[in-house]
Amino acid sequence: MATDLAKIAAERGIKYFLISYVDLFGGLRAKLVPASAIGPMQRDGAGFAGFATWLDMSPADPDLFAVPDPDSLIQLPWKPEIGWLASDLVMDGKPVAQAPRTVLKTQLAAADGYTMKTGVECEYFLISADGTQISDAADNAVKPCYDQSALMRRYEVIREICDAMLSLGWGAYQNDHEDANGQFEMNWNYDDALKTADRHVFFKFMVRSIAEKHGLRATFMPKPFIDLTGSGCHIHVSLWKGETNAFSDPQGELGLSALGYSFIGGLIHNADALCAITNPTVNSYKRINAPRTVSGATWAPNTVTYTGNNRTHMIRIPDAGRFEFRLADGAANPYLLPAAVLAAGMDGIRNTRDPGKRLDINMYTDGHKVRGAKKLPLNLLDALRALDKSTVLRTALGAPLIDGFLKLKTQEWNDYSRHLTQWERTNTLDI
Ligand code: ADP
Ligand code: MG
Ligand code: MG
Ligand code: MG
Ligand code: MG
Repeated sequence: MATDLAKIAAERGIKYFLISYVDLFGGLRAKLVPASAIGPMQRDGAGFAGFATWLDMSPADPDLFAVPDPDSLIQLPWKPEIGWLASDLVMDGKPVAQAPRTVLKTQLAAADGYTMKTGVECEYFLISADGTQISDAADNAVKPCYDQSALMRRYEVIREICDAMLSLGWGAYQNDHEDANGQFEMNWNYDDALKTADRHVFFKFMVRSIAEKHGLRATFMPKPFIDLTGSGCHIHVSLWKGETNAFSDPQGELGLSALGYSFIGGLIHNADALCAITNPTVNSYKRINAPRTVSGATWAPNTVTYTGNNRTHMIRIPDAGRFEFRLADGAANPYLLPAAVLAAGMDGIRNTRDPGKRLDINMYTDGHKVRGAKKLPLNLLDALRALDKSTVLRTALGAPLIDGFLKLKTQEWNDYSRHLTQWERTNTLDI
């Protein structure tokens, strides 16, 4: 065996392994396995009942096995006796086609010889342990972005997370208070898309765990407070051939190659179908298409448009050789997000899709002047219907993923629709 986890456990003092996987809704599921039992688990995987998690399975299905990827091993910086492992799902000896990590790996292997590199910005709120309010009553400025005092009142938490990223070699380079009261962002360097996706999963787990240690709660919920800016999960993207960035072209507009513009064309062409994956919850649609927040802007897109270094559009080209896709939010599945972006982008490349004209306007104030700019879905049901219609995404990501995702998310929508809200009572009682 190339990497013997039992041996590594003995060398590094690992007492337990978390063999984990991410389900269709982005939930992290795991078994805690003592190091003494890791040998057979590394070979055969840890057993799960798939139906008991958010996967499109039946209680009568055979066991699901999560086979750990030893390359993904991370010793928990806040509890080094535990080693975390991302894993790939297997049933009846075959890869599970709907498993998000498998879907991403399949996409990456089918990208016409290109490698995709990504960087994600996972915004989150630090809130009270009971989840009702932000954790710092003094963090109440109208424009709280980059607020030094509010940032420093959370120094103990932020430092512990950043130190962890530094010790793990992720290339952490900045931490800040974001645009909403109680909201933070921490950035680390981009890398191969699978590596970034595993780190994205781990980052969320780590932020929650360290916040809890400090008596707080962290949430990546897209719009936890209606008047405040929501939590996005911007993804920065470049495609590479070997060591060469294929999106880089000093001659191209804003330093982006024709290949890069075709990729953007694919995202624009498929945007409405992508939404169900990038913005997968009922709550997601309160972040996009939202009215102005108290800070003055939502910083989230409303239309399917692209621009240069301007944060009011769906796609921003901040620098040569890459672009930023600003649609996704904190609920996006860390594997399905890059998989769907790549599927749409490759559709753009293979069909040389034209992204249309770059818009340099403030989309929030002047968007109404643009004729023909496509709008984003207004709610989860709209988005699910758009995904259902997309042959591009069904062909690329596979019917098992798309149909399973649509089935479970439609159940979620129906569950939400059956829920009686206070708004309805307020607006309908006296009708
Ligand atoms: P901003 O807030 O301006 O959108 P951040 O600094 O918060 O930007 O995040 C930028 C992300 O983009 C980081 O993860 C960074 O490593 C990543 N990035 C930079 N260059 C590339 C590239 N060529 N390909 C993919 N990601 C990149
Ligand atoms: Mg059992
Ligand atoms: Mg940022
Ligand atoms: Mg941000
Ligand atoms: Mg950004």
